[in-house]
Amino acid sequence: MDTASHAHHLDELYRTCVHCGLCLQTCPTYRELGYEMDSPRGRIRQVMLVDTGQLQLGPTVVTHLDRCLACRACETVCPSGVKYGQIIEAARVRIEREYRRPLFARMARRAGYATIADFGRLARTARLLRWYQRSGLQRLVRGSGVLRALGIERLESMAPAIDSDFFFREFGKVFPAEGARRARVAFLAGCIAGVAFSELNRATVRVLQRNGVEVWVPPAQGCCGALHVHAGLAEEAQKMAQRNIEAMLRDDVDAIVTNAAGCGTTTKEYGSLLCGDSQWSERARLFSAKVRDISEFLIELGPVAPGTKLAARVTYQDPCHLAHGQRVRSAPRELLRLAAGEFLEMPRADSCCGSAGVYNVSENQLSMQILEAKMKDVASVQADVLATANVGCMLQLRAGVARRGVHMKVQHVVEVLDEAYRAE
Ligand code: SF4
Ligand code: SF4
Repeated sequence: MDTASHAHHLDELYRTCVHCGLCLQTCPTYRELGYEMDSPRGRIRQVMLVDTGQLQLGPTVVTHLDRCLACRACETVCPSGVKYGQIIEAARVRIEREYRRPLFARMARRAGYATIADFGRLARTARLLRWYQRSGLQRLVRGSGVLRALGIERLESMAPAIDSDFFFREFGKVFPAEGARRARVAFLAGCIAGVAFSELNRATVRVLQRNGVEVWVPPAQGCCGALHVHAGLAEEAQKMAQRNIEAMLRDDVDAIVTNAAGCGTTTKEYGSLLCGDSQWSERARLFSAKVRDISEFLIELGPVAPGTKLAARVTYQDPCHLAHGQRVRSAPRELLRLAAGEFLEMPRADSCCGSAGVYNVSENQLSMQILEAKMKDVASVQADVLATANVGCMLQLRAGVARRGVHMKVQHVVEVLDEAYRAE
């Protein structure tokens, strides 16, 4: 798309907003802060004024846009069909190109996003973090008070526990279906999941096998680029999409399966991410058409019911990128009802937990406020298990459960199903 058509396209997106305000109370940042500028409507107004030269792209506007979780709850309730996700992504690309963040923020962002994009570098960093966590140094540092003095105590406590055995080891393998083969899939393993949620990935493979699915873990796959898209790093995200298309798009796979809601939304949108590139657009569209969230895939396939249900009461937190980004709501609930003795619906299950990629790091204070509100709803149901379907949400909810002293196990939907199969 050339510059004039891009500007015209954005202008059309902004004009869909009729300023009705129906989105305001569903927006977690508006609910917490109460400022129009931190609401969907206010943010659309600000980017429109920036685009027409009536407002400077300075620290104030950037702060309000940075505070957006990109949860897309506003899209779900908007009667006018505003494509808010596209608006905030375009705004972040513009911020990245035209706004100079403070030096430390620039350095931290560059290092963080480069690490996630390179699995070799990610594994090396994870090994270092694992050594810090297990050598006794973490206990020493925590006890010294230095983290509190630096104001990073809460942040440090949220880092995931690094696995002993990374999932990267499974790259290139093919896991056979149990019984007659019903489907063959490529598994998108994720970036952080490869070093901190390896057992979740292994549970996902087992559940697929149990359902008669052959699972191929493509060796050349990389990070999906979701975090880069949300940070406005469009060119990097496009390169990552191309890499995955090259590595995973094959005629002999029925679907490309992910267990992470954020990865699912981004890969389902590779078609639009690469729509301006004639060399890649068609393959990107084909790739996106094959992507399925694990719960969506199993429900489409017809899941095998476990022989016995777990004696547990389970509730479910919708990851924003599954409920609002992909409109997948019933599939995870159906699987949980299949696996557990009792399913309990919690109030506002589709309201953001405050995780939002790296939001709980970059906007830690506000993220914790949003988590606090979420935990009130979680604590209002008498469940044993709090299930969700995204690794970022799992980390955030585990922090919430610990902070509030709620006795609930936080698990992924497929872990609940896997447990039920293993208890047969
Ligand atoms: S609900 Fe939609 S149309 Fe109404 S203010 Fe919000 S974004 Fe605009
Ligand atoms: S994406 Fe979420 S945080 Fe951002 S404006 Fe919409 S509802 Fe608010």
